[in-house]
Parts: sequence; C-alpha cells; structure tokens
Amino acid sequence: MRERRHSVPVRLGNVTVGGGAPVSVQSMTKTDTRDIGATINQLRCLADAGCNIVRLAVPDLEAASALSTIRRQAAIPLVADIHFDYRLAIAAIEAGIDGLRLNPGNISQPDHLRTIVRHASERSIPIRIGVNAGSLPHDYQPGTSLPQRMVSLALEQVQMLEALDFQHIKISLKASDVPTTIDAYRLIADQTAYPLHVGVTEAGPPICGAIRNTLGIGVLLYMGIGDTIRVSLSGDPLMEVDTGKEILRSLGLMSAGASVISCPTCGRTSLDVSTIATQVMERLRSVTEPFRVAVMGCVVNGPGECEHADVGIAGGEDKVLVYRSGTFKRSVPIDQASDALLQEIDSALSVRPAETSEEMRKNV
Ligand code: SF4
Repeated sequence: MRERRHSVPVRLGNVTVGGGAPVSVQSMTKTDTRDIGATINQLRCLADAGCNIVRLAVPDLEAASALSTIRRQAAIPLVADIHFDYRLAIAAIEAGIDGLRLNPGNISQPDHLRTIVRHASERSIPIRIGVNAGSLPHDYQPGTSLPQRMVSLALEQVQMLEALDFQHIKISLKASDVPTTIDAYRLIADQTAYPLHVGVTEAGPPICGAIRNTLGIGVLLYMGIGDTIRVSLSGDPLMEVDTGKEILRSLGLMSAGASVISCPTCGRTSLDVSTIATQVMERLRSVTEPFRVAVMGCVVNGPGECEHADVGIAGGEDKVLVYRSGTFKRSVPIDQASDALLQEIDSALSVRPAETSEEMRKNV
C-alpha cells in the first residue's frame, strides 16, 4: 500500500478532509429535501450508521429554505448540491450549510459567482468541484482522452475559484466505468494539492454498484489517492455507507466499527449462515469500536475463525458452538443459534472495552 498523497486540509463542520485526516465516508440523502421530516430521519439513520458527511440535493428555493431546519436538527456535516442558480448557494450558506458542491462554470454571471465565493469565504465553507464524465462539454481538443478532458475541466474550474482568491476546494472526477475513474484521479493527483473526493458514479444497483465502487475506490486508496469517499448505489444510502466503511476496513484505513466474518456455506453447513450474518450486520450497524463477529457453518473452519473474533458461532452436527473472546463458551440447539449469538453480542458490547484483550484488538 502506497503512502497517502499529500493534500491540503479543508473542514466541513467538525470533519477534516485531506491533510492526512482519516478518510471520511460520505453519502447523499435520497429523500425530497423539501420533505423536512423524511430528510431528517434519513440523516439520523446515516449518522447512526457511521456516515461522516452527507450531501443533499437543492433543486429549488423551497428546498433551500428547508435547509436551516434540517441543519439545526442534523448531527452531521451537510453539503448542498447546487447547479446553475447562485441564489440557491447563497440561501444554503445562510442556512448554515457546511459545504457546497457546485461547479463554477455552471454559474453564468461572473458577479453571481463572486457573490457565492464571498459568502463561502466569510464562513470558511469549502466548495467541491465535481466533474462528471457524463456531462462534459463537446468542444474538446481532438486526441484527448476522456480522463484528460475530465482533469482539464476540473483544473479550469479550480482556476475560476482561485482567481477569486478562494482555496477551500475539494475535487471529484467521477465516471460510471472504473478504468476511466481511476485514470482521471491518477492524472490529477500530481497536478493539485486539493483534497480528492473519490467515487465511481452512477454505478448501478447494490451488487454491481458495490463491486464497481470497491474496485475504483479501492485501487485509488491503495495507491494513496483519496481523502473522502462516496459509494454511489441505486439503493438504500445506508448500503453506501456500509460499503464505504468496509472498503476502508479492508484496506486497513479504518479500525473502528464492526466487521462480520461469515463463510460462503456448502454441503456441510448446519445453520442459516446468510440470515444470521445479515441480522448481525444490522445489529452492529451503529457500533463504532472495533468488534469482530464470526458466523461459520461448520466445525471445519468455524472454531479457528471464532478464536479470532470477539463473538462467534460455528455449526455442529446437531448443535451450535458459541464462542466469546476467542474461547468456547457453550453449545445451543441449532434453532437457537441466532438468539444465542445476538445475546452474546449484546452481552460482550455491554462490558467493552474491559473484556476485550489487546491481542484481540490487534486481530481486528
Ligand atoms: S466453514 Fe464449513 S460450512 Fe462454511 S464453507 Fe467452510 S466447510 Fe462449508
């Protein structure tokens, strides 16, 4: 794994992006922002799931005017997604938003852009320039590749903000295909020190979307590129957060939060591993400390994995073996496997961190 690329930090509320800060996980609300109750509920769920920053679409003034109430009730930095209308950016800033996603080139009047930048500067609100491969201008130099065109456009937009003496900038360069995304970020990584928001966009429904994002984001992070990530899925935003956190944990960039080890199952399986592992994931969604659970279908590999977990179960012929802190604790009938495991998880979490050994922490 390469050393992380140097980037200058920007702050969104209480979260620092870049400058060596931990890689943060972002998502976007999928509610109508004008529906304040539904939006606040979704923000609470995202915050509980461990999301660090959330973006909201602000398509009109009604949505912008909902932001101040939403901002007051949300315990997480919020970014307003603005296109074309500078009044929406001003309204979002006045509502207390923590960041803007806005392309300066989409604001037609220079005076309007100047006004946005003045307001953002006064409140130290960063602006993310977001270039999307699907909406590039058609007047490009022949022979330039798609990633090159994305980078050129991003740097042009950066210059528009720098010309107004504004440097609280983040950049994203997203495409729906993985190689284009990777190439674009690789190209820009050496050309700017602004922090990079990394993700594969319009990546599809959960399985293929998670795979594309994991490949794109994972390869870039492995190369040291990326300060904040957003997994984009056509589905529940909580899955975006779960996937993002798992990418970070898998690369050793995050130790906090629960991880579930479960076997793929086979002809030896004596319990419903898939259902139980899903129940465990739900139960552990809001756990922020390192915590590892093993759900294993039989005694071939089960005891070994359970010995490296905080809590685990391994299926036997007519019973299930329950482990705690790496040690066999008891056996229960197979139809009680799920209840026994969830009970053991609750019990282990209620006494943490005293019971958890240093040895175990290192294994997580
Ligand atoms: S742990 Fe056992 S049940 Fe699960 S895949 Fe391996 S051999 Fe099969």
